[in-house]
Amino acid sequence: MNILVLNSGSSSLKYQLIDLENEEALAKGLAERIGVRTAEGSCLMHEAKGKKPYNVSADMPNHDVAMDVVFQALTDPEAGAIRDICEISAVGHRVVHGGEGFSQPTLITNETLAEIDKCSELAPLHNPPNLAGIRACRRVMPDVPQVAVFDTAFFTPIPKRAYIYALPYNLYKEYGVRRYGFHGTSHRYVTARARKLLAQTGMDVSEIKIVSCHLGNGCSASAVVGGKPIDTSLGMTPAEGLVMGTRGGDMDPAIIPFLMRRLDMTPDDIDNLINKKSGLLGVSGTSSDMRDIEAKAEAGDERAALAFDIFCYRARKYVGAYAAAMGGIDVIVFTGGIGQNSPAVRNGICEGLGFLGAEIDPRKNDGFRGEGSISKDNARVRIMVIPTDEEKMIARETAEVVSDLMASARR
Ligand code: AMP
Repeated sequence: MNILVLNSGSSSLKYQLIDLENEEALAKGLAERIGVRTAEGSCLMHEAKGKKPYNVSADMPNHDVAMDVVFQALTDPEAGAIRDICEISAVGHRVVHGGEGFSQPTLITNETLAEIDKCSELAPLHNPPNLAGIRACRRVMPDVPQVAVFDTAFFTPIPKRAYIYALPYNLYKEYGVRRYGFHGTSHRYVTARARKLLAQTGMDVSEIKIVSCHLGNGCSASAVVGGKPIDTSLGMTPAEGLVMGTRGGDMDPAIIPFLMRRLDMTPDDIDNLINKKSGLLGVSGTSSDMRDIEAKAEAGDERAALAFDIFCYRARKYVGAYAAAMGGIDVIVFTGGIGQNSPAVRNGICEGLGFLGAEIDPRKNDGFRGEGSISKDNARVRIMVIPTDEEKMIARETAEVVSDLMASARR
């Protein structure tokens, strides 16, 4: 069964065609600058397994046209992975916000599309482009099942005390103001993978307590007990919690009215400040990219060193808080571009966590590649690095929905 996994952003379309038999990517690609009028124009970078990379510059004024270009690439006689679109059994779409209504991957129908559209109010930057990708796919492949896999769905089980803000309760009831959490597909994948790897060593993982840290351009931490999340750091929007590339995470909410009055800022200015100008970029004043921050800090740049320090300190506080929330901790998982690749950040976060039984082995941590454990052999808490694979998870979940659909059609 070939599943096409699609992640549709405001000006981009990222995809992988996955053969579910061996969970291998047959082709992957990225269409960029969709609907953006620049001198460079839109382009598609595509690569199929065993074939030469295929890059096309083509005018892509919208997602419909971009999808046509992607299908041409997938079926190209030289660079493609399939001969015909009918070799695609289902499409799995990453959808950022599923609100309270979507707790599972869901088959897309006209009704579900309308429901997803309603969630756009909660994720105005993300859900509309997700919907554009879904509509473009349905146009080209009207008979192929399409499934929405929500970034928020994994966190459905978190208890009320973790998702209700201490604000007037009617704001939750009337306007949906609550914690939803994001990066759910990644947290689900890496925590399931950690449990599987540890079960193979003979460990009882039924009630295992994991803090998973997804550290990339966006960052979040989740507390997961026996595979079920009990808390997560991103909130109603992806702005709360840890320090990120351009988002500052937790802060005193009264800073916002202060800035609005003092600097005459509008709600849009505030949105821009907290989402685009803060985090590593805001503190360092130079870069949102952890590689730059580390290099500059190494070279003596004090602001970059401070940004690095705040990033690690704030993540460490979440590990401690979640250990308390779970009544203990057995595993810390690092994933995402920073979590997977930065020994310095992993070290900076775990520094001082020896009292919890979490101690990194520097010989394992430095230069670690792939997946496995980086804690000291006798440490009580396992510290693991697990590369995330959201596409594989979306493909699996899409296949499950489609199999259920076929089974109920047979009954
Ligand atoms: P992601 O959003 O998961 O793709 O992660 C992007 C982030 O990972 C950026 O901040 C990159 O600087 C960071 N990153 C990637 N490779 C490294 C590395 N070798 N060391 C430190 N940070 C890295």
